[in-house]
Amino acid sequence: MESSLWGQLQQWIRLRRQLLGERAYGAPSLAQAVAAPAPSPAEAEQRVNLSVNPNPTRGETVLPSLNRPRFRMPEMGGHDLFDTPPEWLQSQNLGELYERIHTCTACPLGLTRTHFVFGVGNPRADIVVIGEAPGAEEDARGEPFVGAAGQLLNRMLQAIDLRREEVYICNILKCRPPGNRRPTPQEIATCRPYLWKQLELIQPAFILALGATAATALLGKEFKITELRGRPIPFQGMVMVVTYHPAALLRNPQWKRPAWEDLQLLQRLYRAYRVQSGQ
Ligand code: SF4
Repeated sequence: MESSLWGQLQQWIRLRRQLLGERAYGAPSLAQAVAAPAPSPAEAEQRVNLSVNPNPTRGETVLPSLNRPRFRMPEMGGHDLFDTPPEWLQSQNLGELYERIHTCTACPLGLTRTHFVFGVGNPRADIVVIGEAPGAEEDARGEPFVGAAGQLLNRMLQAIDLRREEVYICNILKCRPPGNRRPTPQEIATCRPYLWKQLELIQPAFILALGATAATALLGKEFKITELRGRPIPFQGMVMVVTYHPAALLRNPQWKRPAWEDLQLLQRLYRAYRVQSGQ
């Protein structure tokens, strides 16, 4: 694009923003792509208006809200050149959402993936398990947590009397980062709205976040896993429990004990929630 035309387009977008203010659409747009540099993690955090208290008092009893809907898509600072909310935001169920987003190429990972890895499990699950991104096996099969880490996750769930089919399992990113590298902040910011929509459709009571990358992507702020694990974290009407990613547990078996404590915490909270909600 010729530089003068490029400049005019950016000027027009700036003017439009001043007139209309920030709009809250979940998908990256043409205007966003041409006008905005990649947001820093701090900017990305500001763009996502989540009510979250990542630092409740240790030992505090925190249970999810019994009122539904307890989770709604957060306001996000996107810009849409044509004022048209993306169609996928109107999805009424997970199947519709999948149909509308499984060909996504909003970030470069869409060009290198083998399969889009949406998520599996109970569409009305009380517990959603969220990892970081698909690995090689998940990319090959199109399903999250199917490799050795997935088998360990199944055993972890069984240990607290949960079957894989009872929960919903997905990742922050739907496409595999090449070489299993960590997702970039830009990839997370681009893909995360799809996860928000999944959560809005499922309305879980609990999130089990696997690993610091998943937890900090949800919270919109950098934390070490040792700052997050071992306690319930109120999160948008839900409660989040953070533990080690099963792949990390395979490499570091000494972390299995604290992971077991985290799972027992989730089990205690879930039992209390079920009693309170009359299940
Ligand atoms: S990782 Fe997410 S945003 Fe990027 S192409 Fe895949 S689905 Fe789209």
